[in-house]
Amino acid sequence: MSNTTPRPYLANAQVTRAVLDSHKFVLQKKYGQNFLIAPHILEEIVAAAGITEDDFVLEIGPGIGTMTQYLAASARAVTAVEIDRMLIPILEDTLHEFHNAEIIHQDILKVDIAKLAEEKNQGKPIKVVANLPYYITTPIIMNLLEQNIPVESITVMVQREVADRMQSGPGTKDYGALSLAVQYFARPQIAAIVSPDCFFPQPKVESAVVHLTRQEKPAVSVSDEDLLFRLIRASFNQRRKTLANGLKNSAELNFTKEEIEAAIEAIGKPLTVRGETLTLEEFAGLANFLSGTQQP
Ligand code: SAM
Repeated sequence: MSNTTPRPYLANAQVTRAVLDSHKFVLQKKYGQNFLIAPHILEEIVAAAGITEDDFVLEIGPGIGTMTQYLAASARAVTAVEIDRMLIPILEDTLHEFHNAEIIHQDILKVDIAKLAEEKNQGKPIKVVANLPYYITTPIIMNLLEQNIPVESITVMVQREVADRMQSGPGTKDYGALSLAVQYFARPQIAAIVSPDCFFPQPKVESAVVHLTRQEKPAVSVSDEDLLFRLIRASFNQRRKTLANGLKNSAELNFTKEEIEAAIEAIGKPLTVRGETLTLEEFAGLANFLSGTQQP
């Protein structure tokens, strides 16, 4: 922490309540507003994200600025994007001494993050930190990974179950399209398990901090990335069906029964195999075999 940056002071239930009351703030359920009140978790997030004074950090959903203060104290600069306009005057208040923190009032899904990285970090990959509302976790993470956005890492608080899904492998109940997409682009690591009493108000479920390090190259090599993801979605849309039926029934794919069966044989699997038992490498094998045949 530099000497000129003030100390973070918001990570406390009484202070958080006082800030909200003084601005007559009404919590918005639709925006998943649960504010962190546990200093040790904020310190763990900053440590997991590996923030240094050279870094530019994009924070998604700053709330009243609790994590923003910690990030500003460790980073070169922070831009925090908040959707709720009622939080903007609060953030202006809580961050006015944190001169390296900037607030943007916007829906993160509408922000041109590549442009932001260009302006704030000379186009170099940025670190993203977020305590996300649960309903929007998957679209935000997928958007950051799939689009051509320069991102070095994403450190994110999510529902514990979602964290488990990101890390899990074939044959487990949590394994699915999110696991494969995350593992294709990044290395996921659970940095902390967070209990509901670390938030105000308390959520109903346990949370986890996940650190995703973007890999320089995807984990497997495919000639048609879009086809790989269509195959993955088709396999998990109908989880209880065989892989062959899942692929045949998908509206996103247009391969014949023979082509699908040949592809399954080509990766050395029986025709009765279920999609949920396939590794990322095997999905890549399917995609590479099928991209050589007729495309939808
Ligand atoms: N970072 C704060 C903290 O840890 O105390 C607040 C976290 S709270 C779980 C999520 C925040 O994300 C809320 O402030 C909410 O208004 C904001 N938010 C929700 N949807 C958003 C979106 N699409 N774009 C930007 N911010 C959003």
